[in-house]
Parts: sequence; C-alpha cells; structure tokens
Amino acid sequence: MRTCLLMVPATLLLLGAAACGSPAYPSSASPTGVASASGSAASAWVTATPTPSPSPPTPATSSPGTATAAAPPTPARAPAPPKGRPLAGIVVVVDPGHDGGNAAHPQISQRLVNAVTMMKPCDSTGTQDGTGYPEHLFTWQLGQILAADLKALGATVVLTRHSDTGVGPCMTVRSAIANAAHADAVLTLHADGAAASGHGFHVIRPVPVGPNDGMVKASFALAAAVHDALISAGVPPSNYTGSAGYTTRSDLGGLNLSTVPKIFIEFGNMRNPTEAAKLRSTGYKRALATALADGVVTYLGSRK
Ligand SMILES: [Zn+2]
Repeated sequence: MRTCLLMVPATLLLLGAAACGSPAYPSSASPTGVASASGSAASAWVTATPTPSPSPPTPATSSPGTATAAAPPTPARAPAPPKGRPLAGIVVVVDPGHDGGNAAHPQISQRLVNAVTMMKPCDSTGTQDGTGYPEHLFTWQLGQILAADLKALGATVVLTRHSDTGVGPCMTVRSAIANAAHADAVLTLHADGAAASGHGFHVIRPVPVGPNDGMVKASFALAAAVHDALISAGVPPSNYTGSAGYTTRSDLGGLNLSTVPKIFIEFGNMRNPTEAAKLRSTGYKRALATALADGVVTYLGSRK
C-alpha cells in the first residue's frame, strides 16, 4: 500500500517534490505547477472613472435670449459582467498521458503502484502511429492547445507535466496533483493503439471503488458533456470498443484514486493510418481542444 501519496501536503506536490519513496523522475522534470492564474477578470471593467448619479436637469436660470442648454445627465455606468470568460474561478487539470522520457527509464513501467483495484505500473510509454509519431507527443501537443484555450476562457489550468522529455509522473502523483488542486474537472488525454480497422474516440468513466466514490456521478456528467461536444465537432465515436463512444473501467488508477471529477479520453486509434494522419495534424488537435473546452463549459453550466 502506498497510501502516503494522498497525505502529501499540496504545497509539496505543487513544488514538484517526489510524493513518497524514491523519486520516480529526475528533479529537473518537475511534474506539476500552475500554468496560469486567471488573474483579475474584474480589472478590465472597473477602471471607468466613477460618475455621479444622474440628477434631474436643472432649469436654466439665465435670462431669456441667452439660454444655454442644460448639460445632459450623465448615465450611471454599471460594470458590465466579464464576457467570454465563462471559466473564471474554475480550476481545470489537463493531464497529458505518458511522457517522452518513459521509454528510456524502464523503472517507470516496472515499478508497481497501488491502483486501488490492483497493482499497476506507475506510468507507461504509450503507443505510436505507423510513422513513429508517439502518443506522448500527441497528448503533450493537444494539452498545450487545450490549456491555452481554457485559460482564454478564464480558467486556472494545472498541467500534470511541463515538458515532453521528462519521466512520469506516476498515476498516483497525477491523481494527487488534481486532488490537491481541488480541480473542478480533470481531463486525461490519450490515444489508443488498437487493431488497424478500429477508429473513433471513447470517453472512459470511473467505477466507484472507494477513494473515488464521491466523484463518480459528477464524472459521468463531465463525460457526457465532453462526449457530446466531440460528437458535435464531428469526431466519430469508437467502432471497436465500448458503446457509442463510452467505456467504464475500474482498472485505471488515475480514475480510482481521484477525488475530483475526472475522465480519460482516447481520441482515436493511432494504429489506423487514416485516423493517425488526423491525430498528427495541428488543425485536428485544435478542433479537439475546442470541443473539450466546450464540453467543460457545458458541464460547469449544468452543475449550477
Ligand atoms: Zn495512453
């Protein structure tokens, strides 16, 4: 049992300290950090000079023939609500799957950690497409676009890794980062490596296994919102696993250890050449990121 991870102070995690036991990644590969605070949304609209309340027009007192027009009342300017920042005050954790240094550090995949329902490797190398484009790079690039989109909508974004050349972090650490951040939503980004005939995305939802009991219902709502946004964006649901673009799994430590709403998304099958070409393109990743952000906005709207 390595339950100590959940008791590590958030400040240590956010400083990139190893959670417990031997470090799973070099100190230069800090896995955590707040990508951006949303700043003060109010600052954009409270700078108007205060104006006095309007008063009734004062009758002209000057003599006939020299009347001057009374100054029109100055309208009171109520601050307008911030526009285009529907995620202000919201914390979203973006969790790009795998890492570029994992393959060269087999200890990351050989070290077993407690995933609640089983012991599993703390992180893995991920798949790659037929051209050698690796999943860890896809998730990293998509995560960067998504983080920028979410920040533009006002969110505070926390990334679970800050380069594509590091090692890990372990699933346990990725989960602890999001839990410590009290995330409103966590999106774990992946692409699949299935038989070449398969294509399409699927969203992976949690099963209550104890530590995550309190987040399953919200995670299903998050999954539905993101699923529907991807469908609306024209991304096809999986034709090879799950049902209509959904699966539900109890073997993923990343879901089992989460106390905050969290889903995994497999955006496509990298072993399908046609789909792999889409996943490699920046335009497709931009479309995926837009759909994800739309889904988060919808989910948060439904939460109110
Ligand atoms: Zn993956």
